[in-house]
Amino acid sequence: MGGAEGDPTPAQVARAVRERLEVCRLFGWQVPLDRGRIAPRPPAAPPAGRALSSATTPRVAAPPPAGPASSKDRPAREAALEPIRLEVAACTRCGLCRTRTQTVFGVGDPAARLMFVGEAPGYDEDRQGEPFVGKAGQLLNDIIRAMGLRRDEVYIANVVKCHPPQNRAPDAAEAGACLEYLERQIEVVAPELIVVLGAVAAKALLGTAEGIQRLRGKFHAWRGIPVMPTFHPAYLLRKPEEKRKAWEDVQLVMARLGLQRPERRRA
Ligand code: SF4
Repeated sequence: MGGAEGDPTPAQVARAVRERLEVCRLFGWQVPLDRGRIAPRPPAAPPAGRALSSATTPRVAAPPPAGPASSKDRPAREAALEPIRLEVAACTRCGLCRTRTQTVFGVGDPAARLMFVGEAPGYDEDRQGEPFVGKAGQLLNDIIRAMGLRRDEVYIANVVKCHPPQNRAPDAAEAGACLEYLERQIEVVAPELIVVLGAVAAKALLGTAEGIQRLRGKFHAWRGIPVMPTFHPAYLLRKPEEKRKAWEDVQLVMARLGLQRPERRRA
């Protein structure tokens, strides 16, 4: 016999345990199981809808396409990004041009539904010319995987395209000088949702003085695109106890995009 109305079924409990064990495996934090707070299974996703990228399998339950997103054309968007990339590569708008090894433009699907925005390239990114490739990048990859996605299914960029010396945060003048490039990237990619990573990126994109602790956990907007601020992966490496809050933010993003985490596969 089943339990009282509203109680989770044994199958729902088992599914919740599997999901939380998976999160622990990926992020290394303890997630207590509270049977009373297991959410009911969401309704089945509509069969049609725009995938996260053309390479995405049908596991993405996408909302109906709307506006420019419905006509997304990957080669055209790649071509539209190229002149911006070249402009950035030659940019001398701020003093960071003198200390960079190379500019770090962005990476991923130019027609992605989801875009991550960090603050600036670090040492590894400066050497490799790609955002989020160091330890923080590995954690971001883990987060993306936990969402049921691959790194090449999202688009990743920074507010500032040149590595600040000694890995310091970019100052307001540097962020202000560089922001226009990011804005143009966003306009080309036209993601359905942006996740900003850390206070510097959140303040630059949202034009706010609020700290990340107050900004995170709820959606904001940039020119009509929902924006979820959360912690920068580098901060999460220093403060692993904050990973649970980051996961809560990620779950809000997944719900908004209709994403479902993949079931853990048997070995
Ligand atoms: S950080 Fe941005 S604005 Fe400054 S030189 Fe690099 S590309 Fe130009």
